[in-house]
Amino acid sequence: MHTMASIDDPNCPFCNIAANYAPYAPASPPSSPLADDSPISPTKTAPETHIVLSTPTVMAFLDIMPLQPFHILLCPRSHRPRLTNVSRDEAAEMGQWLAVLSHAVVKVTGSPDWNVGQREELDDDEGRGMAELLREAVAELMREEEEVQENEGKGEDEDSHVEQALPKREANKDSKL
Ligand SMILES: [Zn+2]
Repeated sequence: MHTMASIDDPNCPFCNIAANYAPYAPASPPSSPLADDSPISPTKTAPETHIVLSTPTVMAFLDIMPLQPFHILLCPRSHRPRLTNVSRDEAAEMGQWLAVLSHAVVKVTGSPDWNVGQREELDDDEGRGMAELLREAVAELMREEEEVQENEGKGEDEDSHVEQALPKREANKDSKL
């Protein structure tokens, strides 16, 4: 696993992103992301990284060469050059976040269709705006999920947003946190 101080592969751009962006609770993304000292400041890397999600296990960010405006890359924090290198636990968590991110894109675009068009490039200002919209959509979805769980009497642990935010299957795994 990456820690903030180590990079699995110094030549890997994804490892560089993992090393620069610490996990945060998806239900409450850092405010003021454009401040230079923000944990998700886009300028921590060059080219800029527009973080959409950063958990202890996975990260999602806007593709720097998007095929469409909301082209998101979702990957494990650890160096995984190929999909076959991804562990089953990582794949399970990626799958759960894939579902959340799908809903976030639909929420932000207002379109039920993912493939809404093609773009040649995304400039930094657009990337910043889109990433913020997506982080907020993820946060809203997480909060809605918490409310549903609380209404069903299942939300037990008030002081851990990350645990509550993670899909139920992950909530019992202390090792993830
Ligand atoms: Zn890597």
